[in-house]
Amino acid sequence: MSKLFGVYGELCATHPWEVIVAVITLTTCFLTVEKQGPSLSNSSYSSCVGCYEEQFQAADVVLMTLIRCVAILYSYHQFRNLQNLGSKYILGIAGLFVVFSSFVFTSTLLNFLHIDLVDLKDALFFFLLLIDLSKAATLAQFALTASNTQDISKQIARGVAVLGPTLTLDTLVETLVIGVGTLSGVRRLEMLSYFACLSAIVNYVIFMTFYPACLSLMLELARVSNFYGEKQQSIKKKLLEENDKSNPAVQRVKLIMSFGLLVVHLQSRWLINENYKVNDDLKDSKNCSEDTSFYGFVMKQFVLGADHIVILILLLTLMVKFIFFEPKDHLREELEQDILLEIKRDIQQKGHYRTISINAESQTECNLSEILEYEDGINDKDTDVPRSLQNCLEIYRSNEGASHLSDKEIMMLVDTKHIPAYNLEKAVQNPERGVKIRRKIVTKQLQLSSVFLNMPYKNYDYSKVMGACCENVVGYVPVPLGVAGPLLLDDKFYYIPMATTEGCLVASTNRGCRALEKTGVKCRIVADGMTRAPVVRFPSITRASELVAWLKKSDNFSKVKEQFDSTSRYARLSKLSSHIAGRYLFIRFIADTGDAMGMNMISKGSEKALKFVQSLFNDMEIISLSGNVCTDKKSSAINWIEGRGKSVVCEAIVPANIVQTVLKTSTHSLVDLNISKNMVGSAMAGSIGGFNAHAANIVTAIYVATGQDPAQNIASSNCITIMEPYGENGEDLLISCTMPSLEIGTVGGGTVLPAQATCLEMLGVKGPHSDNPGDNAKQLARIVCGAVLAGELSLMAALAAGHLVKSHLRYNRSYSEKDAPSKLPDRSMSCQT
Ligand code: NAP
Repeated sequence: MSKLFGVYGELCATHPWEVIVAVITLTTCFLTVEKQGPSLSNSSYSSCVGCYEEQFQAADVVLMTLIRCVAILYSYHQFRNLQNLGSKYILGIAGLFVVFSSFVFTSTLLNFLHIDLVDLKDALFFFLLLIDLSKAATLAQFALTASNTQDISKQIARGVAVLGPTLTLDTLVETLVIGVGTLSGVRRLEMLSYFACLSAIVNYVIFMTFYPACLSLMLELARVSNFYGEKQQSIKKKLLEENDKSNPAVQRVKLIMSFGLLVVHLQSRWLINENYKVNDDLKDSKNCSEDTSFYGFVMKQFVLGADHIVILILLLTLMVKFIFFEPKDHLREELEQDILLEIKRDIQQKGHYRTISINAESQTECNLSEILEYEDGINDKDTDVPRSLQNCLEIYRSNEGASHLSDKEIMMLVDTKHIPAYNLEKAVQNPERGVKIRRKIVTKQLQLSSVFLNMPYKNYDYSKVMGACCENVVGYVPVPLGVAGPLLLDDKFYYIPMATTEGCLVASTNRGCRALEKTGVKCRIVADGMTRAPVVRFPSITRASELVAWLKKSDNFSKVKEQFDSTSRYARLSKLSSHIAGRYLFIRFIADTGDAMGMNMISKGSEKALKFVQSLFNDMEIISLSGNVCTDKKSSAINWIEGRGKSVVCEAIVPANIVQTVLKTSTHSLVDLNISKNMVGSAMAGSIGGFNAHAANIVTAIYVATGQDPAQNIASSNCITIMEPYGENGEDLLISCTMPSLEIGTVGGGTVLPAQATCLEMLGVKGPHSDNPGDNAKQLARIVCGAVLAGELSLMAALAAGHLVKSHLRYNRSYSEKDAPSKLPDRSMSCQT
């Protein structure tokens, strides 16, 4: 049954013009056909004003006043409910529904039942009482959950399928039940019952024809779809629950009831027809001359009875309540919050705060001062006159502390050096407020009121930043995060998070992953050891070389190791290497640092171990804990040759057909290019560890995404890419990447920050490894190396095929609105430097 209604609903929604024109034509025909049928006018019951007033009883006045009041209150309630849905569209569409149905209803009454204008008033109140706007709103909600304009008719069809059967049955039952009143023999009651029956029928007909068509047309013209956005799923769920409301048992009872009532009606109509003539005679006998003059009519309309006064007061009260005292309801507030958030996001992302037009749809009165505070120039709500410096100092030094001072007062204490600017977060005991005040201080000093307009700072967990990741914080810089993959690495698929602003990079790595998706990458860690090399000085080369000899003895190494290892649960000294230069000595500590990259850990251990050595070699002068032989964050041959952090090697075989179809080149071209560029070219440039195409691109993007120390991309990007022909005919490609110094970890540093930790979680390596400390960091190093191999493959292929410049010009330059993305070529062809 509901399927049938669904098909019908879709028909109405897909042919709105046809349905609307048909309904309007039919209505016009009703208006123009010759008046026939039974007359319900007062004239037929009591055809003159005088007679009518004679019969008019007090009870009727009271009853009708009550009905009118209830009708008004009910309509008010229905429109309030609609307004709470928060859409002008729903309100507008429902309004249209009411207006058009009343028009059809009125026309039918005047033309078919020939009622007087006086009775039309009562009829319209009945109409208001019986109109069900909640159904109209539900159907509109269905339509508004459409994800695009094409989906609107489908959603309307769904709505009609859900609402249609229940509404049909309800209308039938309603008409038959109320219809019993038309058989009562009490003329006034009969007339009112006719009104009510007609109301129900007109409502139903309009709801099933004109309304869905109009809804579809309006939404399509207004291009409104997916009004509910993120809330769509929950709204859809709520709408589908409408289905459940139609209890089958109740439906069955209604059907049986309808059948019974139908029998009663048929039988009674037949009896009435028999007596029709007698009634006519009776009417004639009561007929008297009618005052049809204009004066009589006007008098009748304008003589205000008690009922009119009551209704007038009610209407006025409702209007006043609606305009001045209407409380905001929950849903509306939620919508307003969403809109406010939207505006804030807009400010955050585009810096358009000056051109914000407050969303007219919900007529939300957004708190503009809050927005301005959010955008955080020097303008905020902190407009109070600051207290005196002395006063502020007293408060700051008392138990109350700086948190009880206004922003301006705290800025005054910073200006006068009573609060160090770097210590603001601690002073106000609220990291976010501290950051906000620092932004104001910097803004003031720069004299650029909107300097931080596009720099977000809110909703960030600064507790993880303070004392660990950054100082003097003024916000955070959002970097786009892309994902490449899946990369098949050691028989497991990984999606690689890459934070970058270089167009093409993620797309290119992605293409490399695609080329490897069948054969995959094999990867091994061949060495692991973070390094720190303090520089010490002796009075002479003799004393320096004595220490070199002392350190070589295994017993002495054990003593130093004992000191070193005592500083950490995870850092374990594995090797010491000495590098002498005259009377200077560089002792390179090499240690396993578990899942941490380990620089802090190894520094701590080295310091303690060195102090121990100094206690034995009293003439040893410790010049610096870091003597650059480490070597951290600087280009050096030692890391390339000896390794630092994780030393990783990975390899893949790419079949000839993949080289041709995915990489659009040949093995021969790739091997030739690799020798020319990555071997000869890099040798000619005197490169150290730069025998690759763009390892640093992939390393840095993954480092930024996963909270590594980005400056360590220097040694971490050391890589040699080797390509060889493979297979019987040498048409397949054997590619390997060797990276001896990946300085990487899953614990410490930026890895604890929420977004970065999420990226680690994507790769299944978040935090410390539960069973085997160090395994997470090693796995992350493998993933980086595998991704580098994919990136190398793609860029080298693009270079071999001559796509480099074309891709870069397309993707590295922002395109304007008129350059539609559809004009851009296949991104898989893109590449890097
Ligand atoms: P860290 O956060 O300073 O130390 C790691 C901490 O994690 C240690 O306290 C360690 O315990 C603990 N931990 C818990 N589970 C662990 C596990 N499974 N494996 C390893 N450690 C575990 O991190 P870090 O890697 O040593 O240093 C990284 C930071 O140093 C980064 O912020 C980086 O930017 C910075 N950095 C410092 C230098 C420098 O010269 N100091 C140079 C470059 C970069 P224990 O206390 O028992 O060891």
